[in-house]
Amino acid sequence: MKNLLQRQPAFPLPTGRSRLAELLGTDGNKTVHPFWGWVPLTSLTSVARPSPFGSQGNRSGNRTGGAFPSGSRAGGSFPLLACLFFSLAGCGKAAEPLVVLFCLDGASPWLVDELRDEGKLPTLNRLMEAGVSGPLRSIESVRLSLPQAQRGLISPAVWTSVATGVTPARHGILDFVLPRSGSSFVWIGSRKGRPRAALELGEISGRPPFRLRFRVRAHAKVEKQTLEVVFNGVSLGRAPVGKSWEEGSFALPESLARPSRNRVTFRFARQFRPSGAEKKKDDRPLAGALAKLAVVDGKDRVVLELDPVLDRVALGHGFYPPEAEFVDVQSSDWRAPPIWSSLGELGHEVGIVGQWATWPAYRVNGFLVSSYMGLLGVGKRGELPGLTWPPELADRLLPLVPPDSAVTKILRDLYPEGCQADSPERLEAFRSVIWQDEFYDRIAQELLPTMEGGLFSIYFEAIDVASHDFLPLRAGEPLPEGCPESVRQIVDEVYRQTDQRMERLLRLVPDDAVILVLSDHGLVSRGRRGSHIRDGIFVAKGPKFRKGARIHGASVLDIAPTLFHLFREEIPLAMDGQPLVQIFEAKFLESHPPRWTARTFPLPDVEAPGAGVNEELMERLEGIGYMD
Ligand SMILES: [Zn+2]
Repeated sequence: MKNLLQRQPAFPLPTGRSRLAELLGTDGNKTVHPFWGWVPLTSLTSVARPSPFGSQGNRSGNRTGGAFPSGSRAGGSFPLLACLFFSLAGCGKAAEPLVVLFCLDGASPWLVDELRDEGKLPTLNRLMEAGVSGPLRSIESVRLSLPQAQRGLISPAVWTSVATGVTPARHGILDFVLPRSGSSFVWIGSRKGRPRAALELGEISGRPPFRLRFRVRAHAKVEKQTLEVVFNGVSLGRAPVGKSWEEGSFALPESLARPSRNRVTFRFARQFRPSGAEKKKDDRPLAGALAKLAVVDGKDRVVLELDPVLDRVALGHGFYPPEAEFVDVQSSDWRAPPIWSSLGELGHEVGIVGQWATWPAYRVNGFLVSSYMGLLGVGKRGELPGLTWPPELADRLLPLVPPDSAVTKILRDLYPEGCQADSPERLEAFRSVIWQDEFYDRIAQELLPTMEGGLFSIYFEAIDVASHDFLPLRAGEPLPEGCPESVRQIVDEVYRQTDQRMERLLRLVPDDAVILVLSDHGLVSRGRRGSHIRDGIFVAKGPKFRKGARIHGASVLDIAPTLFHLFREEIPLAMDGQPLVQIFEAKFLESHPPRWTARTFPLPDVEAPGAGVNEELMERLEGIGYMD
């Protein structure tokens, strides 16, 4: 599948791309017609809708012929040709909906209802009255970077479930950060008795003979360490272990393997017991550390692999919490394809702004403004590669960087100098997300008008951070010294500003566009902080939707299947969610029942792996309190 993508010189340039191409100053793949202006050459030469995965041969055949599949959803040669004769633009709109997705991190249904009643959210109110709405159930993931791996509603994990229609366990974006490949390890030591630790391997399938492989090292202060490895109660052997990482390997007799619940135990001969000053720093007795463990079959293929951080559920007694070098999530970490890649493969145009873990940017059928774009501080701008797809788009967007004064203006009225309602780090983090929302807003103002159909998505984060920091003050917690009453209004104000941002962007799209507004979870005031609750918001307005209806039981997993159905595509069976049929008018559903397909889509073709931790993101996460 990956090869298929690599073979392609470029994604098709559908009709809607032409204005983006103009913006970028590129006009390849286009020809000029005296009557209807710019028309992609491709629309004239390839009219039938492509079936990218049903017939790979055809697809590459198309490409070598120089003809791209049309991005228009005319559905066949007759309607499209008719379109070309009459009005290309009008026809394109009728055939391909424009779907605008507003992703509002942390927007709470209860607070939206309150603010609507007070008339502070006219745009959202209008959308809810003209469309369907209801709570959106979030999904938990695991904070891998915390010693105890707490479960929780973790924004990048939830938004990636929105984008893929699968659970965090399947898409792999489990936390804000993931262990850098090969960096996970776990210490073995025992406060009582000899140091030993057990791992639960589960089923071992594949072709014997099997071998057990692992990376191991002795604690720096233990001389002449030896390790014995025991499998299902039978010793596989004993070997000396040095102080630097080394590979160990033992034959794993097939006769010892059980159908399930196979268990391997590591027994060290001795361990280091700290005393005095050392004990104050770390009082754990430590024998040695274990990194990756794998079972390989007779052909040296890995049939089972355990990473101490990712698979900590396999760690039995005798292990301390696993450790690793953590790196913020990046586009190369995705294990399931985002909907903008899959829809792009099917010929739909996409425009994505600021979704989590989308750096480095990769090829899409349209544009992708990566998650690092919003992190560009003044002075660092433009130095990073991979900020956008197409790459040259970044140069066009960087002049839109909001001046500091724009952010100050947003804050000044509510939050005067001298008031310390929160820690300086948290305030800095709050400031930086306001800056990001403003930047993404400006980018959307520039790019949204280039789209005539397809999927556009934009991510706003300030509601989440404002709610974490200021919901308790809104709920009546005592005001810190030097702070005016207006500080209690910050959350309301950020909601109002976000509503205005949506209003301005909606002026740029046609009335028949499909509008979706979502959040990944809500928040409530708990103690001195806002904390997550499971229900986020779901609002949908469009020509085929019910009007003014409340829906129940929608899940973040259902968004991607619903989008497939909106674009009249078969829904991949691999998705964990269901299309939200209850949002559509009965008449539309009768003529367009959901259809499913066993087809799978390739992962994005991420060319360069990320360079490493983005300091600004880590600072912001710390500021918000995520990395405490
Ligand atoms: Zn969130």
